[in-house]
Amino acid sequence: MLSEFELIRRYFDRPARSALLGVGDDAALVKPGPGMALAVSTDMLLEGRHFAVGADPRSLGHKALAVNLSDMAAMGATPRWATLALALPQADESWLGAFASGLYALADGYGVDLIGGDTTRGSLAIAVTILGEVPEGRALLRSGARPGDDIWVSGELGGAALGLAHSRGRVQLMRQDAALAARRLNEPEPRVALGERLRGIASSAIDISDGFAGDLRHVLERSAVSARVHYASLPRPPALAALADPQLEGECVLSGGDDYELLFTAVPARRAELTALAAALGIGLTRVGSIHAGGALLELLDASGRAMPQAAGFDHFRP
Ligand code: ADP
Ligand code: MG
Repeated sequence: MLSEFELIRRYFDRPARSALLGVGDDAALVKPGPGMALAVSTDMLLEGRHFAVGADPRSLGHKALAVNLSDMAAMGATPRWATLALALPQADESWLGAFASGLYALADGYGVDLIGGDTTRGSLAIAVTILGEVPEGRALLRSGARPGDDIWVSGELGGAALGLAHSRGRVQLMRQDAALAARRLNEPEPRVALGERLRGIASSAIDISDGFAGDLRHVLERSAVSARVHYASLPRPPALAALADPQLEGECVLSGGDDYELLFTAVPARRAELTALAAALGIGLTRVGSIHAGGALLELLDASGRAMPQAAGFDHFRP
């Protein structure tokens, strides 16, 4: 049986490249570049709540970091350093090896150093804290949306929720569609490059972790503005549209969690620039509505311009 310290040394002690001091002391040391603010965020994944018992450990390593990188993207920050707090029922070496390989593969892809953490015995729980850098005063905030702005989303909405519906047997997808949806659910690709490029273009941003409608409402509340959104314009996976199940489609697109796309606002004068950016990054960027003055209302319109019923975002504490 591995000791705690052997476990850390074997799986989580790779040399840090851009920290002053990484794993092994009582604290790590990092130094942001001149003129940079530190962006800091934590996200926790619990077995049985955020992922199923027996979930693939490599995907878990990826996702635990990906959801944090997504928060950096939503701030327009460049992720730099991460810590990992891990509760494990036992020191299962094949599980640890796969988990670490998923986590480091993504970390290496984004130049992020794992610089510390904590390891304890307990029900499986994974908490990553990410530190990133953003030029002072240039972070993308939820509070910056202004009347007249366009509302944009990256990629597609509802792919992860479709993957969950498939894994629970609620829908039957063709094999290729199922694989794609499972990847959206289990191994989301955070929109880091997009977030960085949106600095100075977007007036506000948030990542879509709890569903489009709920996350848009967070922006509306923080910015004290309203939104008008055209449901038909919301980008969705072709496999979802092909199911011809409007109920499920609406649920996935409006309140499906775990997509980790970016939702942002920008003045209409930026449209051409954003279209060019989408092409340069190879990421879909879709204009889905507009921001209006007043009271944090989300007006959702169907194809014939009629108001649609509202779906709420995911909330762990809502009965
Ligand atoms: P302390 O008791 O001083 O908090 P620990 O014994 O918990 O230190 O950790 C020893 C070193 O290993 C520290 O640098 C800590 O940040 C690091 N560490 C512990 N667990 C992890 C982990 N899961 N991933 C990365 N680093 C870890
Ligand atoms: Mg400790």
